[in-house]
Amino acid sequence: LEGEIRQTERVTALGHMSAGLAHEIRNPLGIMKVSIQMLAQEKFGDGVVSEYCRILLEECERLNRLLSEFLSFARPKELLREKIALGELLDEGVCLIQPALQQNHIELERVRSELDQKEVEVDPDQIKQVILNILLNAIEAQGIGGMIHLQVVEEEGYVGFAVTDQGPGITQEVMPYLYDPFFTTKDKGTGLGLSVVHRIMDQHGGKVTISNHNERGARVGVLLPLV
Ligand code: ADP
Ligand code: MG
Repeated sequence: LEGEIRQTERVTALGHMSAGLAHEIRNPLGIMKVSIQMLAQEKFGDGVVSEYCRILLEECERLNRLLSEFLSFARPKELLREKIALGELLDEGVCLIQPALQQNHIELERVRSELDQKEVEVDPDQIKQVILNILLNAIEAQGIGGMIHLQVVEEEGYVGFAVTDQGPGITQEVMPYLYDPFFTTKDKGTGLGLSVVHRIMDQHGGKVTISNHNERGARVGVLLPLV
């Protein structure tokens, strides 16, 4: 048991250190980004320099995204709970995802019901993050076109939502690893989206379920305790 405790302490210390490191990397990265933007404005005569600048900026963006996602995973924020209707939370989450939906020509069907009125006592920003991460995965799974359903759901003492997409679904081999930090099947994924979802839901005393939906697509469900 003592060994286990020491191991936990080591892991926690490592978590703090890597979060600190991630935070420190962000500043020079921001300066690099601005410098590249300035460089890209200079006239060099040929297209080679601006092409390299474009690549550099893209990679800066990627690092920045990785660091932000890592920080929200490694440095959990204290919950700032407030009472809010589930429907309102969903509407705000959907608002944030609109640009990505439009860019991919995906229609989002937001199924409304009387459950929209039910209140939950949550940190709205964090739950919006949950909605966003799940919807982003649905969009990425689906590619261009098609429809994503967002539905309010209810279970004894819980209320929440489910997202179903028309992507390829999830193979049985990868099912056990979905919540592992850095687990991804995507070329440019971070593998942190669902880890963050899981952590936030844990903090809220909620649940997450992931399954395949009928013949086609994945279904991700999230449940929060009713007030
Ligand atoms: P990332 O999106 O960066 O890969 P996530 O933690 O958000 O990381 O997701 C982990 C993995 O779970 C994805 O790489 C993908 O294999 C799988 N996954 C998540 N959502 C879906 C979905 N809607 N359809 C198919 N696979 C999914
Ligand atoms: Mg993701």
